[in-house]
Amino acid sequence: MTIPLSPEFISRIKVSLGDSSESFLKSMQDPAPISIRMNPEKKSDFFEKEEKIPWCSEGRYLVERPSFIFDPLFHAGCYYVQEASSMLNEIVLTQLDLLQKNIRALDLCAAPGGKSTHLLSLLGNKSLVVCNEVIPGRNKILQQNLVKWGSSNAVVIQNQPKEIGKLENFFDLILVDAPCSGEGMFRKDVTAIREWNEQNVERCVIRQTSILEDIIPALQPGGLLIYSTCTYEPNENDGQVEKLIKDHNFSIVALQNPGFGITSTKYGWQAYPHLVKGEGFYIAVLKKNGEPEIKNHNSRSFQPKHEAYRNYLNDFLEDAASFTPYLLGDMLYAIPKEAYEAFQELNDKLYIRQAGICIGTLKGKDLVPSHELALSNQLRNDLPSLDLNREDALRYLKCESIPYTSVPTGWYTITFENFILGWAKVVTGRINNYFPREWRILKEIPA
Ligand code: SAM
Repeated sequence: MTIPLSPEFISRIKVSLGDSSESFLKSMQDPAPISIRMNPEKKSDFFEKEEKIPWCSEGRYLVERPSFIFDPLFHAGCYYVQEASSMLNEIVLTQLDLLQKNIRALDLCAAPGGKSTHLLSLLGNKSLVVCNEVIPGRNKILQQNLVKWGSSNAVVIQNQPKEIGKLENFFDLILVDAPCSGEGMFRKDVTAIREWNEQNVERCVIRQTSILEDIIPALQPGGLLIYSTCTYEPNENDGQVEKLIKDHNFSIVALQNPGFGITSTKYGWQAYPHLVKGEGFYIAVLKKNGEPEIKNHNSRSFQPKHEAYRNYLNDFLEDAASFTPYLLGDMLYAIPKEAYEAFQELNDKLYIRQAGICIGTLKGKDLVPSHELALSNQLRNDLPSLDLNREDALRYLKCESIPYTSVPTGWYTITFENFILGWAKVVTGRINNYFPREWRILKEIPA
């Protein structure tokens, strides 16, 4: 740690932790563990031997921080770099019996996408996962991370919670990983230390309360609300949960403490870095009281409008019959059939930034396949591909030219160790690199 903790923060932690505050403060001098979560749909054995994170099946601690940016598998979406404590969602979803369920979920505060990608892996591809981020720059990062993850059942939106709240009783599950005073990030991010002050804690409390109040109408009665933060402030954690119980007709859902050093609070769990191998994190689950509406999420009542474009889906997707083509301008999308009705409703009321799988851009009768399609878990696996060694793969990811090999002309996926990095088009005597320029590696490759 390079800058000292605020004396006011130290006083507050001494009040809340009592005798163990010394161990807590000592742990703040230790480096934060490095961890990643593997993508079960893009399984490589690269991290298989690393130490397992006990509360997350695909989570691994790394002994040292590799240069992720120069790892082609990072760009292929084989793993997500995520802080270990925030993977506790997995035990929560397991205890709630939500794994592989067909539900409508909202990740309200989603960027950069750690919880969203995890939720997508845990819920499986029959659910609809709507991922929202209000800040445009952060929304772009969220989109990029979701594209790399390759799930076809995510919709990215960019709306204020109040606008989403107008979708009355729409969601079965809402995750609010709220913006907070960030005390749990002090070891990872010195700006969190710099920006901390007592007024900011109060501002965070007010903002969290209004986010929660705005989004409540969108949760259907009987639906579940997972509330989390990366801070230790009781008013930002149990305090918010208590307000939902007292003022908004919610009940607490009791979770069974799984051990691993996790501390049970009045309503939820708190991870402290002197007790858990991870950073500070709080999580609790509430249920909205009332009888759930009987809904048929698989309804196919909406008439698909763009069936004429189905042949492009057949050309590229493994299971094209499970998707509905949707044309927006000259961009063709494949929307999972189960999610088509929900997608129409979202499209009518909210600002959609990305949905299902973007197949590509139509240019007359031709289709220029999108980068999203290349990284999609649904892409057919019998398409022509060119496998590159590490050096050429990094050149491809820098949008530089790659060596020409004499193969028939046409579209090829570019792979590294058989994981797809993007598209290239072979023309006579040359290979055109279609890796998105705005995503390219800007740093010089180390010798
Ligand atoms: N869930 C993310 C993950 O796991 O990668 C981290 C989310 S971060 C703790 C909180 C997010 O809330 C930020 O991306 C921030 O831009 C967003 N946010 C800030 N103000 C907000 C508001 N008023 N309503 C909704 N989201 C907000």
